[in-house]
Amino acid sequence: MGELSIRNAELLVNKIVAGKLGFHQVDLPASEAVEIRRKAVEKLTGADLGGISAYVIDAESSSKRNIENMIGAIQVPVGIAGPLAVSGEYANGEFYVPLATTEGALVASVNRGSKAITEAGGACVRIFNDEMTRAPVFAVSNIAEAQRVVEWVKKPANFAKLQQATEETTKHGKLIRIDPYVVADNVFLRCAFDTKDALGMNMVTIATDRLADIIVDELNIRLVALSGNMCIDKKPAALNLIEGRGKNVIAEISMPRDVVKRVLKTTPESMSDVHYRKNVIGSIKAGSLGFNAHAANVVAAIFIASGQDAAHVVEASTAITSLSTRGDELYASVSIPSLPVGTVGGGATVKTQRECLSIMNVAGGGEPPGTHAKKFAEIVCCTVLAGELSLLAALATHHLARAHATLGR
Ligand code: NAP
Repeated sequence: MGELSIRNAELLVNKIVAGKLGFHQVDLPASEAVEIRRKAVEKLTGADLGGISAYVIDAESSSKRNIENMIGAIQVPVGIAGPLAVSGEYANGEFYVPLATTEGALVASVNRGSKAITEAGGACVRIFNDEMTRAPVFAVSNIAEAQRVVEWVKKPANFAKLQQATEETTKHGKLIRIDPYVVADNVFLRCAFDTKDALGMNMVTIATDRLADIIVDELNIRLVALSGNMCIDKKPAALNLIEGRGKNVIAEISMPRDVVKRVLKTTPESMSDVHYRKNVIGSIKAGSLGFNAHAANVVAAIFIASGQDAAHVVEASTAITSLSTRGDELYASVSIPSLPVGTVGGGATVKTQRECLSIMNVAGGGEPPGTHAKKFAEIVCCTVLAGELSLLAALATHHLARAHATLGR
């Protein structure tokens, strides 16, 4: 326990247990504070926390940027899928993809899908839009004032002024556009930024704060909240599905019948039939915002492994999968309109997560900036395609329950 004597440690633990010291008030170097809090929790709850006490990540760095009241770290097993052949603008070649999950059969399924894609010559992938949004809400007195705000924001000289001000808050971020929305006496300004290799939520929040200050000063209106939910962050939404948020990325493959048969053990027709009745008809009937088999499964596993914000699986879950037969081939595609990812900042800096990013050669900032996050997004989208193909094939051959019985329990 470093400098801290056992007696002093006990005193601190007892103070927390007695409610006289808050978890956040333990004023010690991070790794020692972690131990004090964990011991207090053990005493308070009777739980044995020997497992979460063993970790390799840097408590000091994580306590500064990733977590408050740290008591240890949990471990999620990481598996590997691949090789996965990808032909993108940023990701080109064969990749191995780390997946952190406790759902047995998931990695095996993605691995099989990757094999099918690679044997078919690789998936093609492109990014169609790339921006992160923050949408403050302002209160105005009436709709005439709302109109004045919208017109002011749309004037090129005013936009340039806002752009310049936001760029004083960040070296990498750039304000691309402001989309105004008015509802009664509310004006929402959806501010879209290029955030390069960062997911960018902190970056755009800080930049939008500066922008909002200027608008309040210039137009004498009231800022109600820096986030007015038109951003829209971590909630399933038609707006993100239509406009995109983060990376709007699409992967596709044309798979010869013999690969479908040999690797996926089925036919293009059976897979297309399952896709139509499940992903299309079933999703419509359920009122789903996602038209896919299990995109969230794959995205969650990659996100956890690579230090992404796991809550953004919500956005990625709105992916649209598309399957059809083209002559003797199966055409399959996954469109993810909202894939918020980053290779710098946030959880991407944590040692174990950074190691996983390095498996795909995308850890840290790219050269030029932005290329690592784009490359990563392309790999993620192709991995989702692999997961979709494998699950649809398993359903087509009625192998799903068997696979889970063998691998998942
Ligand atoms: P961050 O860790 O706050 O900032 C990353 C910083 O890295 C950037 O601001 C940038 O500095 C710098 N950077 C260095 N090289 C870069 C490169 N090549 N490309 C881009 N930036 C580079 O991370 P963030 O991505 O802005 O935010 C991610 C975190 O936000 C996650 O932990 C997520 O959970 C959290 N989050 C926050 C909110 C919120 O409302 N604040 C909402 C959801 C999630 P410069 O700006 O100086 O260029």
